[in-house]
Amino acid sequence: MSERESKICGYCGGEITPRHNLVICSGCNKAYHMHCWDKSGRCQTDGCEGKPVYHPAPEPEAQAPRQASSMAKDVPNYLAWAILATIFCCQPLGIVAIVFAAQASSSLAAGNYEAALKTSTMARNWCLAATVVGVVWIVLVSIAAFVLAFITEGIVMSI
Ligand SMILES: [Zn+2]
Ligand SMILES: [Zn+2]
Repeated sequence: MSERESKICGYCGGEITPRHNLVICSGCNKAYHMHCWDKSGRCQTDGCEGKPVYHPAPEPEAQAPRQASSMAKDVPNYLAWAILATIFCCQPLGIVAIVFAAQASSSLAAGNYEAALKTSTMARNWCLAATVVGVVWIVLVSIAAFVLAFITEGIVMSI
């Protein structure tokens, strides 16, 4: 890769970046843009009969899988939250969240990024619902316990 960096074209004097199609002369190792070599048809060094050695720029498609895998990391996995929500908050909603989280990770493993993102969002929503319901439930139970204790104490005091 380093040999491709900052080469100067022997025909037009312009820089040849890694995104250009590069031609190296087999006779004198001079670098050219592919289109510059094609324009002149020969090496610009006096008396050089070198043949062109083509080094095409990397295809954009070659970078696509790497991009997809880096995008895949952006799909959050809510499985841990879903399990916690199931144990501590609301079991029925938490189980739905676990199902969606599991679907998201299996879609991700299959490389289906769009489906993984969709089910991941669903998992988050169900996790959120389970957590909210759980917290509300805990608050209600606490209030009920407090009121019950208060009433019981009142009854005990009145006796
Ligand atoms: Zn050039
Ligand atoms: Zn040459």
